[in-house]
Parts: sequence; structure tokens; C-alpha cells
Amino acid sequence: MSANAELVVDLDRYRANLAALRGYAPDALQMAVVKANAYGHGMLPMARAARESVDWLGVATPAEALELRAAGDRGPLLCWLTVPGAPFAELVAADVEVTASGVDQLEAIAAAGDRPRVQLKVDTGLSRNGAFGPQWDDLVAAAARLQAAGSVEVTGVWSHFASADEPDHPANDQQEAVFRAAVDQLAAAGVEPGLRHLANSAAGLTRPSSHFDLVRWGIATYGIDPDPAVRAAGITPVLTARTFLANVKRVPAGASVSYGWRWTADHETTLGLVPVGYGEGIHRTASNRAEVGFAGSRAPVRGTICMDQLVVDLGDRPARIGDPVTLFGSGDDGEPTAQDWADAAGTIAYEIVTRLAGRWSRTYRGER
Ligand SMILES: *Cc1c(COP(=O)(O)O)cnc(C)c1O
Repeated sequence: MSANAELVVDLDRYRANLAALRGYAPDALQMAVVKANAYGHGMLPMARAARESVDWLGVATPAEALELRAAGDRGPLLCWLTVPGAPFAELVAADVEVTASGVDQLEAIAAAGDRPRVQLKVDTGLSRNGAFGPQWDDLVAAAARLQAAGSVEVTGVWSHFASADEPDHPANDQQEAVFRAAVDQLAAAGVEPGLRHLANSAAGLTRPSSHFDLVRWGIATYGIDPDPAVRAAGITPVLTARTFLANVKRVPAGASVSYGWRWTADHETTLGLVPVGYGEGIHRTASNRAEVGFAGSRAPVRGTICMDQLVVDLGDRPARIGDPVTLFGSGDDGEPTAQDWADAAGTIAYEIVTRLAGRWSRTYRGER
């Protein structure tokens, strides 16, 4: 390993997670969402493994969709976030289904090929992408006009929840009702809605009424619960972030650690140097708060997390340069999980894995 640190991705666990999630929505089609480099796991290997079992892949950007196609991916693929000037012709030629969130987008997609397949996004209350209120009325009218003229084939209609990770939040019922009305409106305009989909992982796990024809599984496929309060049975974290102690030293009481001297030893202890930092996407806000896995238990991060390195307190445990350290993983060997790092960093586990970047090497187990 020429890199100082390694991300180990277990594809067999990923396959098992996909199978477990299917059990939550056995009557719906399954989409694996592999945007943002598969939430930091590496898009191409995850996509290849997902294709063995799922019906659809989903990505945000055209570049992600085209990278998949360039790598030989051929199956159903939905892309949902474009800007004016996006390579619609290339996407359509590559059989990527693009999402239209407004009339201009729909017209740009229609002009980009011979009767391209397109999905329509309605904003049911997230107030992010999708057509809202009168924009949806206009999009429905445009879709009916363009479809009747043979200029597009509408293959789906979809939306996204704001608070699916809070199953009792009133937004969920409200958005689902708005979605049903939007689908009815499309059908009443003479457009067969095709695939109707609304659920992400959290809704896939907790809200069968939202499954419709397809569930867009993201975070849970990577073995991470959408929220500590929304647990998926039978999933395991897929990714382990690990490295080795780069230095070890015994320091006396009174020794202060790292930039700003934000931690001072109150008794003699052993410090270990871990050669990863925010350059690898380790959250600096977890300084003095997170823990790492060491020798079957945990060791606290002491002081400020730096660009390339961080320091952990090993107490009186025997430790040598080169001993393995696990930043986070499944938790099976006592190490923290991505959720533990999220708690320490004041964020969500999605961000812990998705921000992984920089100087890791990547190892895939279970590649076929
Ligand atoms: C990211 C994303 C998902 C997956 O969400 P998870 O909470 O990770 O399951 C589904 N749909 C859309 C539109 C997304 O952007």
C-alpha cells in the first residue's frame, strides 16, 4: 500500500444490504443511488455490483451518468440534476433518462433526440428541485403537448421527501397526498404517468404507502441507517477507513497536543499519530471529540484534527509504530461507526462517508 491510509469496501456486504432492503419493498422496483461517488464508496465498483440485482441506478448529475455509460454500464439509469447547457443530446443518446423539473428543461430534453424518454419531477413540499404549484400545471401541459406531438415519451413521475427520516413528521402525509394528486393530474391530462416514485431509504424502510412503483435506496445500501431513529434490519456498513500508527510517544502530564494546544494531558500517557486529516475528508469539527478503533477498543482523538494527521490518546496500552487503527467501520471490532463520527462532528453519517476524499487507497473485496 503506497498510500498512508486505506478505504476497504466490502461488496458482499453491499450485495447483502441490497437484498435486505428489497425485503422492505418486495413489490416495488429497486433503484440503487450511486451519486456523489456512491456516497464516497467509489461509483463504478458499487454500480457494477448493484447491477447484479437492482432494476435501476440513480445519479444526480449528467457527468455521473456519462461516466457510468463510458465505463460500460447499460441498464436503466435516471439522472435528476441538470443546468442549462447540460449535455442532453449525449445523455439521450446514451439512454439515460433525464428528469425535467420545468418546461424549459423538458423542451431542451425533447430537442435533444428522437422522442427521448423523460421523467417529470414534481415538488411536493421540499421546495428544492421539481415543479411547484403553477409550474407543475405548466409542466403537465407541456408534457401532454410534447408527448402528443411524439417529441417525448414520459416514463415516470416522481418527487422527494423533506422529512422521511422523521416518520411521524406531518410533512410525510402531506407530501404523499400532493404526490398522488400530481400523478392524477398528469393522467387526467392524458399522460400515462409511467413509474411513480417518491421514497428514499428512510421512506422505503418506514412508509410502505410511499413505495409506489420504485424505491430509490441510497444511504441504507451502504449499510448506514438514515437516522439513528430509523433503523434498517439486516444491513451492515460496507466501508472501513483504516490506517496505521505513524508515530508513538510517551508524554508527561502537562503535554499539550496539536494546533492551538486545545488538549493537555493531565497525566502521563501514550499518544499515537494517525496519518489522516481533513485532506482525507476527516471532519475537523470532530477535534477533541471523535474516537478511533485501536486493538479491539477505542481511543479518543486529542486536540485539533489537522490537514494530514490527527493524534489519539492510547493511555497505557502497548502501542508501536505500524499498529493498525480503524477510523470507522462496521463496529464489529469495537471501532466507531460513521454514525459515531457524525455525532462527534455535529453532522449526519451521510456527510462522513460522502466527504471521504484525497489520499486514500481503495480496496474492493468481493469483486466479481
Ligand atoms: C440522494 C437521493 C436519494 C437517496 O436518498 P437516501 O436518503 O440516501 O436513501 C433518493 N432520491 C433522490 C432524489 C436523491 O437525491
